[in-house]
Amino acid sequence: MSHVFHRQPATAYPVAVAGDGPYLIDAAGRRYLDACGGAAVSCLGHSDTAVRDAIKGQVDSLAYAHSAFFTTQAAEDLADVLIARAAETMPNNRLDKVYFVSGGSEAAEAALKLARQYFLEICQPGRHRIIARRQSYHGNTLGALAVGGNQWRRQPFEPMLMPATHIAPCYAYRDRREDESEAAYGQRVADELEAAILDLGPETVAAFIAEPVVGATAGALPPVPGYFRRIREICDRYGVLLILDEVMCGMGRTGHLYACAEDGIAPDILMTAKGLGAGYQPIGAMLCSAAIYDAIVTGSGFFQHGHTYIGHVTACAASLAVQRRLHEGGLLENVRVQGAALRQALDAAFGQHPHVGEIRGRGLMLGLELVADRASKAPFDPALKLNARIKREAMARGLMCYPMGGTIDGRHGDHVMLAPPFIIGPEHVSEIVDRLGQALGAALDSLPA
Ligand code: PLP
Repeated sequence: MSHVFHRQPATAYPVAVAGDGPYLIDAAGRRYLDACGGAAVSCLGHSDTAVRDAIKGQVDSLAYAHSAFFTTQAAEDLADVLIARAAETMPNNRLDKVYFVSGGSEAAEAALKLARQYFLEICQPGRHRIIARRQSYHGNTLGALAVGGNQWRRQPFEPMLMPATHIAPCYAYRDRREDESEAAYGQRVADELEAAILDLGPETVAAFIAEPVVGATAGALPPVPGYFRRIREICDRYGVLLILDEVMCGMGRTGHLYACAEDGIAPDILMTAKGLGAGYQPIGAMLCSAAIYDAIVTGSGFFQHGHTYIGHVTACAASLAVQRRLHEGGLLENVRVQGAALRQALDAAFGQHPHVGEIRGRGLMLGLELVADRASKAPFDPALKLNARIKREAMARGLMCYPMGGTIDGRHGDHVMLAPPFIIGPEHVSEIVDRLGQALGAALDSLPA
């Protein structure tokens, strides 16, 4: 009997023992094509020599030094690279400082606390409210959960520790009116932010937080063009900080190191994790503007936050090696090329499928929204647990994909997200689509008539 606290105790988990490129291998020798990078983490696959060597080299000289006493060359170099890339790729980049943490939820906590402390430092203590979007996910710690809009994750923990206001997501498939252009739709939903700020009182609002491409809670949902430019304008008009959560969609997943660069905007605070360490080490980061950092420096001189593993040197060394890999040998170009190929293959295989409502995403972050009925877009009954069936059938066929269930409010149904490693080639694209087709068919066949 296992003494590990498994999240789903009824599941018989295979024992993972090795990695080979985009495949994971279990103790019985079975190979699983990792078409979701776990949870959009393993962007370099599972046996990258350069990253493994960087970890070994770092541990051999220094494994850990507490951030209250030391900085390290790996942390300094990694911060330089992340800021240099932001400056190169983001129009009107504001990001200038990097605060390293151990994962996405920690990045969210740091971002939310920094936004609030910033307004204290500049003598606007009334600005403490956070606005977010329904069906967003920013992490599972209680602060991050409070701003996230995903009902399924929130419900067991209501009332939340801190109040947050939620506006509509940019979800054209569900919410765009038939007579509305994409641009008009984007403006309408972005303007909900302005309405919320005015309703709460601009002098009370600290920040708006959103994922540029919504990940696991909405199945790789990109915004319509122009949406985030409008959001940026509104934040600037009312002095509200824009926090972008690129924990899932960042670090090259969309074909760009920072997903927001494609939307032509830069945030005041950016969260990243997952692909930052590519799964070789747990690491996340919060990037912020010089204006915010300077307010802390000239104010109290101390960010009231911290964790034991901030700037963990082995994690930073691994992440530095990941950055080198991302920028050599055209890897981000491969994300765009294989992403387009995967999208095309998904369209060909499932474009007319009676239970696939929409295929969407960017780069190698793609999703299928599943519906009981294409015409009405009615979701499957969540009680059927279609997502769990798909996961089971996919694993039985040696495929890892990321199916998520319908939300409690029934606003959208099950979906499957694909986020394979950036190293995949055309042979893997075919394998993903073939196995996904079989798994989806078997899962649908297993539903009660
Ligand atoms: N933000 C987004 C967009 C995520 O997808 C996730 C995790 O899935 C998180 C935050 C939380 O990250 P972590 O699980 O590393 O705490």
